[in-house]
Amino acid sequence: MKAVVYEGPRRVSVQEVPDARVERPTDVLVRITTTNICGSDLHMYEGRTDFEPGRWFGHENMGEVVEVGDGVDKVQVGDRVVLPFNVACGHCKNCERGLTNYCLTAQPEPHMAGAAYGFADMGPWPGGQAELLRVPWGDFNCLRLGEDADERASDYVMLADIFPTGYHATELAGVSPGDQTVIYGAGPVGLMAALSATLRGAGKVMVVDRHPDRLRLAESIGAIAIDDSKVDPVQAVLDQTMGLGADNGCECVGYQAHDPDGNEHPNDTLNKLVNSVRFTGRIGAIGVFVPQDPGASDELARNGQVAFDFGMFWFKGQHIGSGQAPIKRYNRQLRDLIAAGRAEPSFIVSHELPLDQAPEAYQHFDARDDGWTKVVLKP
Ligand code: NAD
Ligand code: ZN
Repeated sequence: MKAVVYEGPRRVSVQEVPDARVERPTDVLVRITTTNICGSDLHMYEGRTDFEPGRWFGHENMGEVVEVGDGVDKVQVGDRVVLPFNVACGHCKNCERGLTNYCLTAQPEPHMAGAAYGFADMGPWPGGQAELLRVPWGDFNCLRLGEDADERASDYVMLADIFPTGYHATELAGVSPGDQTVIYGAGPVGLMAALSATLRGAGKVMVVDRHPDRLRLAESIGAIAIDDSKVDPVQAVLDQTMGLGADNGCECVGYQAHDPDGNEHPNDTLNKLVNSVRFTGRIGAIGVFVPQDPGASDELARNGQVAFDFGMFWFKGQHIGSGQAPIKRYNRQLRDLIAAGRAEPSFIVSHELPLDQAPEAYQHFDARDDGWTKVVLKP
């Protein structure tokens, strides 16, 4: 089968790899019809993780079930399914509490928790930017879709990661009806957080970024765009909230090696959130901060640290939540909102391309090139 294989920093190619297959009775084999490139893939693509060359990417996957193991009860051949990016067993201490993002069985390292398809340090599972995907514990890890699955694939595929992830950011931040919410980052994840804040009834949603195309998308769902290349975003949020600060905020940027002009990136979004959010407000931090970037010129980043003014955070009595999102916690409800026509996360999709064009798509998405907001691959 064909897959998008990592060769080294900023190098991927579409190669023939061994076919995925059913290996255990609880496995489901899925023919991938839709699979996305994610901002999380860029941490590996840019070479600051220990993702091994020869492995393949893809954790935002959707497709058709083509084979099931003897121990699979609920999922059947022919079902259209979307696969939460967390690989989870469903029965460990963490899964039992709904923390499928920290499964202890799917992660083989004894001192670690959490697993994903096609990901560094998240278990051995191959990715779905390929023609076939093996889904372990298939009954638990497949979300079945309705008759409109193919027709609305660009909406439903967002259930594998970024729609529930954006929703989780707003859950961690405690976004409630009427709230004034600020979101740092208008990438796919930030835009899904903005959509989620709106679905939760926020009164005012402010989105900070500097890419005009991404800010326009934020405005298209009713958010207020704040261009931090033109204004001080903290001051802009204070101006929008009668000087008090937002009720809550979401960090949807994560570790960035460079700003769009190629300058070393300060990774200062956490401090900007502390200063943009009111006293006692909550912050949901779901951008990924990878442990270390040995190549960074900024000493903090080299040591896997980011600036965080804990003194001001403490003084303001704020709260913060972080980590991988537990996709299964939200994906049924969000699926049903899509099915009912009440949420259309596909508004962020800029490109639908065949798998063969993945290398150029990675290049453009990584450069944050104008108009490359979210790439959907069609193997
Ligand atoms: P992305 O890199 O396309 O989006 C990040 C956006 O932040 C870009 O538009 C960039 O211009 C903007 N940005 C950079 N510096 C900024 C600053 N100082 N202030 C405001 N905006 C700034 O990626 P994405 O796909 O949207 O993902 C965002 C983050 O979410 C990544 O770190 C990704 O790994 C992470 N993520 C986490 C989870 C999870 O489960 N926690 C899941 C998916 C993605
Ligand atoms: Zn993702």
